[in-house]
Amino acid sequence: MGVATVSTTDAGVARRGRFEGRRVKKPRQLAIVTDTCSGCAGAPVCQIYCPVERCMLPEPATDAWPFARIRVDPLRCVGCRKCIRQGDAGTLLDGCPWDAIVMIATSEWEEAHGELPY
Ligand code: SF4
Ligand code: SF4
Repeated sequence: MGVATVSTTDAGVARRGRFEGRRVKKPRQLAIVTDTCSGCAGAPVCQIYCPVERCMLPEPATDAWPFARIRVDPLRCVGCRKCIRQGDAGTLLDGCPWDAIVMIATSEWEEAHGELPY
């Protein structure tokens, strides 16, 4: 089975975003998209909530065919939590309606993937 062409461009994200470029300060937490992400049928809701340009981008995934799964760029994510649905004390916020995004400590990310080049 072939990998579908990603139909969602990052151009729309760039128009909506307010921040550009790599973060200067390393955030304490980063958003991670889990395997439960389906790509929202080609219209990723999470991209709407993320305030950072080109931070959440579609990435082809054979197990999410025919759409793409979202990936968070760890050098752009500011850890603002706007893409997740779970707020403090169990409150439900906007964000991924499928709870496919979790926040992890940046140190945990770096333990698994190496130090981020800030
Ligand atoms: S992370 Fe959630 S909101 Fe974003 S594309 Fe995946 S399922 Fe949809
Ligand atoms: S935590 Fe904030 S900056 Fe990071 S992916 Fe989610 S919305 Fe974007």
